[in-house]
Amino acid sequence: MPLLFKKIKDLRNFLKSKKCEGKEIGFVPTMGYLHEGHRALIRLARMQNDIVVVSIFVNPTQFGEGEDYERYPRDLERDLAVCEEEGVDIVFAPDVKEMYPKGYRTKVCVGELGNVLEGAFRPGHFNGVATVVVKLFNIVQPDRAYFGEKDYQQLKIIEEVVEDLNIPVEIVPVPIVREKDGLAYSSRNVYLSPEERESALAIYKSFLLAQKMIKAGERDANRIKEAIRKFIEKHPHVKGIDYVEITDENLKPKETVEKGDRILVAVRVGNARLIDNWKVEV
Ligand code: AMP
Repeated sequence: MPLLFKKIKDLRNFLKSKKCEGKEIGFVPTMGYLHEGHRALIRLARMQNDIVVVSIFVNPTQFGEGEDYERYPRDLERDLAVCEEEGVDIVFAPDVKEMYPKGYRTKVCVGELGNVLEGAFRPGHFNGVATVVVKLFNIVQPDRAYFGEKDYQQLKIIEEVVEDLNIPVEIVPVPIVREKDGLAYSSRNVYLSPEERESALAIYKSFLLAQKMIKAGERDANRIKEAIRKFIEKHPHVKGIDYVEITDENLKPKETVEKGDRILVAVRVGNARLIDNWKVEV
């Protein structure tokens, strides 16, 4: 079983002794309810470090009013079993008061990237993410930290934060892990009924459609985005599309599509809001 820490002080004391022994620490921050996507991050961390720390914390400051903070799935016992299977050394699962004691004031304010795409629909979301990630970096002081491309904008923002604030950690990106039929693994997939899940597959299928258009020579981003929208919209249970965007690898919108660009979407299906993205091949 991994060692479970709930207190910052206890974790710090333990890690201090490991650092003194010259051990390298790999860190995987999560909100728990672990799935194959998280496992991929953990496995890479396991390969590249002496000690693997996984944090499990549903961070209230990154949820907006009316979002799913309360109903977000939680199951620490199950997560500990997953961590044991993957050879995790330490699980850090603080409660909210431990991370944000009464009178907590300071926030990390991210740059312009925090206001576009997800940020436009979830104001303040990325400030909440950056704040908790910087706190976790200061608590764990890892050599490497692992982030999934599933949350591509989050990955890019964390890279910026680390560079801008001179945080001594290497950010390691991990490709998206999908279920056999193409749906990206997400803790939020539990919100989907079987019928809604079928409709959610439209996201992946729309990426294949876009990819086919691009392979056939289409390069006009607007036409590709329109085709994606039309395709997704026609599925039942799709309540709405928050955005379909095509950007370069640094999230700058594109008009002409090239290799390595990203297609990013957010779609509301049933009671779930799903995000996904695709790296363009030509
Ligand atoms: P979460 O618990 O949803 O906050 O995710 C924790 C980390 O796992 C983030 O870096 C996510 O990008 C990553 N992650 C979540 N789902 C996937 C997936 N399907 N493939 C790869 N990484 C993922």
